[in-house]
Amino acid sequence: MAETKQPTSVITGGSGFLGSHLTDRLLREGHRVIAIDNLITGNVANIEHLAGNPHYKFICHDVTDFIYIPGEVDYVWHFASPASPIDYLKIPIPTLKVGSLGTHNALGLAKAKGAAFLLASTSECYGDPLIHPQTEDYWGNVNPIGPRGVYDEAKRFAEAITMAYHRYHGMNTHIVRIFNTYGPRMRLDDGRVVPAFIGQALTGRPLTIFGDGTQTRSFCFVSDLIDGIFRLMMSSFHEPVNIGNPREMTIRQFAEEILRITGSACPIEHKPLPVDDPKVRQPDITRAKTILGWEPRVDFDQGIRETIEFFRGRV
Ligand code: UDP
Repeated sequence: MAETKQPTSVITGGSGFLGSHLTDRLLREGHRVIAIDNLITGNVANIEHLAGNPHYKFICHDVTDFIYIPGEVDYVWHFASPASPIDYLKIPIPTLKVGSLGTHNALGLAKAKGAAFLLASTSECYGDPLIHPQTEDYWGNVNPIGPRGVYDEAKRFAEAITMAYHRYHGMNTHIVRIFNTYGPRMRLDDGRVVPAFIGQALTGRPLTIFGDGTQTRSFCFVSDLIDGIFRLMMSSFHEPVNIGNPREMTIRQFAEEILRITGSACPIEHKPLPVDDPKVRQPDITRAKTILGWEPRVDFDQGIRETIEFFRGRV
């Protein structure tokens, strides 16, 4: 790697959907990036354009084991985790380990290097929320022993240990609660509603709505999300901040939008609603607007068309 005075960022989960977009943004900001990933849900295709870049290094490693990075590090971005419900149902124990042991190791690295730390947390911390939209001061409604508990509780533990390192060690830490995000580089088979519906519409299969489709989600385009996260790391704010797009829709409306934009005439097929599937989800982004001067800019039509184009070449 180039020996320069530029800032150094370590990204865990660096070959995932968000980690790879964050890498591109940080390289544009002039950082040197060290990406760590064990490729359990990450994808090398997301980072192949970085091969040979002297400001970039990839380490294949599981961050639930001790993380060794020589030299100075200025920022640690902890993004490693399965993030789609079918992934964390398939690999529940690695999900719990990366959220707990992995976060402990990533915090330990940041502490040893005197680096700022950012935890990629989640709207799943609110569980099946009883207040709507969700503000950061809501403590959530999570079922600790349900199938989603492995992700939700690991992330809640991750938030707790991050605040403990901030309070006890005086570390510069940040916590972003990420709401549903979409864009190029999502995995076609990750089971989440955006790749699922687009893949189905593009290949002429029925769109699989779980339940009656009245549950809501609010979808944020990836470049907007990364911008909010970058601003949060550069801020001096330590409590959790919601980053997401408050434009809320039902899953049925989302299916209809995908059919309209792809021009597909695929039928809709109903499947059982997964256990503990949140009935509503919408971020209150007052805190992000006030503290970071951030709000989403990419409208749904524009973002979803770009995402569909990405998948068109891959189905
Ligand atoms: N969903 C659906 N059909 C699918 C995949 C997901 O109806 O093929 C629903 C799912 O039950 C949930 C919403 O879409 O209510 C968003 O699911 P996703 O897996 O994208 O993530 P979540 O927001 O639940 O973490």
